[in-house]
Amino acid sequence: MDDTKTMQASDHAHYLHPFTDHKALGERGVRVMVRGEGIYLWDSEGKKILDGMSGLWCVNLGYGRHSISKAVFEQMETLPFYNSFFNTTNVPAVKLAEKLARIAPPGFEHVFFTGSGSEANDTNVRMVRRYWDLKGQPQRHTIISRFNAYHGSTMAGASLGGMEGMHAQGGLPIPGIVHIRQPNYLEAGRGMSEDEFGIEAASWLEEKILDVGPEKVAAFIGEPIQGAGGVVIPPSTYWPEIQRICDKYGILIIADEVITGFGRTGQMFASELFGIKPDLITFAKGVTSGYIPLGGVLVGERVAEVLIGQGGEFAHGFTYSGHPVACAAALESIRILEEEKIVQRVREDTGPYLAQRFATLSDHPLVGYANSCGFVAGLNLVRRKGPTIHGHEYFDPKLEVGMVCRGYMFNNGMIMRAVGDRMIIAPPLIMTRGQIDEMVALIRRCLDDTYADLKQRGWM
Ligand code: PMP
Repeated sequence: MDDTKTMQASDHAHYLHPFTDHKALGERGVRVMVRGEGIYLWDSEGKKILDGMSGLWCVNLGYGRHSISKAVFEQMETLPFYNSFFNTTNVPAVKLAEKLARIAPPGFEHVFFTGSGSEANDTNVRMVRRYWDLKGQPQRHTIISRFNAYHGSTMAGASLGGMEGMHAQGGLPIPGIVHIRQPNYLEAGRGMSEDEFGIEAASWLEEKILDVGPEKVAAFIGEPIQGAGGVVIPPSTYWPEIQRICDKYGILIIADEVITGFGRTGQMFASELFGIKPDLITFAKGVTSGYIPLGGVLVGERVAEVLIGQGGEFAHGFTYSGHPVACAAALESIRILEEEKIVQRVREDTGPYLAQRFATLSDHPLVGYANSCGFVAGLNLVRRKGPTIHGHEYFDPKLEVGMVCRGYMFNNGMIMRAVGDRMIIAPPLIMTRGQIDEMVALIRRCLDDTYADLKQRGWM
């Protein structure tokens, strides 16, 4: 019987969850999600929940898109799988590669498919090193990333990422990957304007390049907006300066657009918004709206010329590279994105509306700073507000106030993620103005509940 208690017991008995303390979850009891429609989910107790995180930054088109399930079903009936290794290909993979070349920024004519974002970033590590080998500069081996970045959970993905907790387990990072500080204005921009800080934060890259030795640096990797790190939106001066520095030293740029790709910021790719001209673009999640796993790397002409022109065999690939069913799901997802003009709507209508509505939360006594870009947003919980954003008083991190707030969100039927004491959302791109109002009202109510609770505990 699939009742909640039985599911919870079986879950605890057998299912090890990602990034989870298994024992603690068993004591708390897991929530069982059973159904989704549009921007809403229902759990096994029949509770309706507004999904402010699009699953995990991926269900951009919302739940219950029958045309995607139909495309998947039909492809499964026709050809559920064939590999792309031995001089073979399949129709959806070819069509998707061509489609991606058409919607990618100029200069991206090729794609390498993987099963996930992590695998795509592993592919990047191997591909940039292969590129420099072929260029006769095998000493160009080092990849520079940023602390608090998230690039996946495989050995290379977690090494590229800058999450302390991940590096502490399993002997990471692997050799040849180094990190610089993130462009977090709130954390490190005191005494500077945002624009000044953007230039300052980019200069940390040049320092690191000179420290490593420019002749040894292969690539710089960054998320245009750091997602899992807490929706860190960089100042507008940051990326153009990063671009200038990479160009100066001939270093490749990898834009990890696993979250930002396929419309999240109101552009098809955020590189276009931030003025980045990457050589490689990592994608996953939104490409299929999360309905079927798929990831990959868009390969720009600089790398493609060498890899294809003089490369011979690139000894890399996955069983599920170019999986026909995943590619069919992606083709239908992109078709919907275009036909319903969803990216344009986020850019011109619902994105600005979300920005305006979300910013109103700043007047709440718990909220010190609220900002957004397209359909990602975050707010910082503060103990006491200061006269400027750098003057706030924060909670002791050990109190885990973000988790208290997340608990109220969850109980009130709203999914909002906590990264420390920063509360973040990345809602489905199909959200209407009315639903944005509903979401912001729900968030305010949960903030009120959190505030009352913290007062009662004597924490503020
Ligand atoms: N890069 C970024 C920017 C991500 O946000 C994620 C996942 N959250 C990944 C890579 C890894 O993707 P996956 O979980 O599909 O391996």
